[in-house]
Amino acid sequence: MNQTTRTRSTQEWQRADAAHFLHPFTDFQSLARKGSRIITRAEGIYLHDSEGHKILDAMSGLWCVNVGYGRQELVEAATRQLQELPFYNAFFQTATPPAIELAELLAEVTPPQFKHVFFSGSGSEGNDTVVRMVRRYWDLLGQPQRHVIISRKNAYHGSTMAGASLGGMGGMHAQGGLPIPGIVHMEQPYWHELGRGLSRDEFGRVAAGWLEAKILEVGADQVAAFIGEPVQGAGGVIVPPETYWPEIQRICDKYGILLVSDEVICGFGRTGQWFGCERFGTRPDLMTFAKGVTSGYIPLGGVMVGDRVANVLIERGGEFNHGYTYSGHPVACAVAVANIRLIQREGLVERVRDDTGPYLAECFDALRDHPLVGEVQTCGLMGAVLLVKDKASGAPFPEALELGMVCRGHCFGNGLVMRAVGDRMIIAPPLVMTRAQIDDMLVLIRRALDLTL
Ligand code: PLP
Repeated sequence: MNQTTRTRSTQEWQRADAAHFLHPFTDFQSLARKGSRIITRAEGIYLHDSEGHKILDAMSGLWCVNVGYGRQELVEAATRQLQELPFYNAFFQTATPPAIELAELLAEVTPPQFKHVFFSGSGSEGNDTVVRMVRRYWDLLGQPQRHVIISRKNAYHGSTMAGASLGGMGGMHAQGGLPIPGIVHMEQPYWHELGRGLSRDEFGRVAAGWLEAKILEVGADQVAAFIGEPVQGAGGVIVPPETYWPEIQRICDKYGILLVSDEVICGFGRTGQWFGCERFGTRPDLMTFAKGVTSGYIPLGGVMVGDRVANVLIERGGEFNHGYTYSGHPVACAVAVANIRLIQREGLVERVRDDTGPYLAECFDALRDHPLVGEVQTCGLMGAVLLVKDKASGAPFPEALELGMVCRGHCFGNGLVMRAVGDRMIIAPPLVMTRAQIDDMLVLIRRALDLTL
C-alpha cells in the first residue's frame, strides 16, 4: 500500500485517514463522519487539495510558513545536509556544523542579551525546557523555594505536560491531571472582555497590575518567573494595550522575577520586528521559539538563554540533566540557517513593519462597517475580527462557538483558510504576502462574513 496522491481518490484517503490516524485537537468521530480535507501541495501563499481546489492559506499552515511554500533554498539546504550528514547528536561533547552555525546566527538576530541557545524539537519541548531551566537557575542561586511560574489564562504554550500546564486553556487542563504543581495563572489582557469602561491604556496598566497581585498572593520569594506570548496567538490574536508589557517588565524587575517571552508565534518577523519582545519593549531573560525558525519546513524549536541565566548555568551549574535526541538536529538547523538568511535577504521583517503590516491594519479597519464585526485587531501580519451580536454594546452571540465555525466553513468553501477561536476569526498569513494578495484575502473574508450573517 504505497500509493501516491494520483492513485488514490479523496474518499480513499479519507477512509484510510479515519481508520488509522488520530489527529491532534480533533473529535475523532466528527472527523470520521465528515472526512478530512486532504492538502496535497502548495506554492507561495496557496494550498491545493485533492479535489483540485486552490486555497489562500491565511494561517501560514499553523502560524509557521513565514517565507511561504515552495522555497527552493530551504529544500536544497535540507537535501544537501541529508546527503552529507543526516543526523548526529549534540550529546557527549559532540556537535555538527549546522547546529553551531545556527546558534551563532540566532545570537546575531535576537536581542543583545541572548548569546546562547538550547535546542528542542518543538515549541512545547522548548517550554518544558524553560520550566526546568528556570527552576535550576534559582536552585543554583540557593533559592529553591522560588519555583512558581506565573502564566495567564487563555495562553497557549504547547501540549506536553509542562507546556499545557503553562498554557491557560481550560479544556486542556481538564484532561490528564493538569496543571503540574507550581504553575499558577492570572487573567489575560483582553480589553474587550475585561476592560470595557477603561481606555485601552488604562486597562493595560490594570491588567499588568494583576501580575503584582499574583506575586503577592503566592509570596514574592516563591516566584521564579512570568511567561507570556507578546500577542496571544492561539487564544485569539489578543493584542495587548501598549502600556501592558512595559508595566509587566517593571514588575518583574521590581521583584527580581525572570521574564520569559514565548516567541513561538511572534518570533521571526510576525509582528514586524524580529521578535515580539522588541515590538512591545521588553527585555526577556528567556525566549522560546519554534515554527518560524524553519518556516515550518522541518520541526525545530528552542530557548534563547539570556546572559543572566546563562552565566549562572555555565559558571555554577555543572551538568544540566536535560536534552532531546533531536536537540540541534543538523538537517533542521541547516534549514533554519537558510530560512533566516532568506528572511534577511528579502527584508521580510522590514516589509511587514513598513508596508504590509500597516496595510493589513488599514484593510481590517475597513471591516468595521460590517454588521457582524465588533472589533478588529492587527499586529504586523496577524489579525483578528470579533463577531458580535450587538455592535454598540459589543454583546456576544450566545452561540458564539458555532458561529465562528460557520464562518470558518464559509471561508473554506470560498478558498480561504481562516481560523475560528470562539467568536474571533483570526489570520496569520505568510510574511511574503503582497498588498494585492491582502486585497484578495479581504474580498474572501468579507464574502465569508456576508454568508455568516
Ligand atoms: N507556544 C506558542 C505561543 C504556540 O503558539 C505554540 C503552538 O502553537 C507552542 C508554544 C507549542 O509549539 P509546538 O506545537 O511546536 O509544540
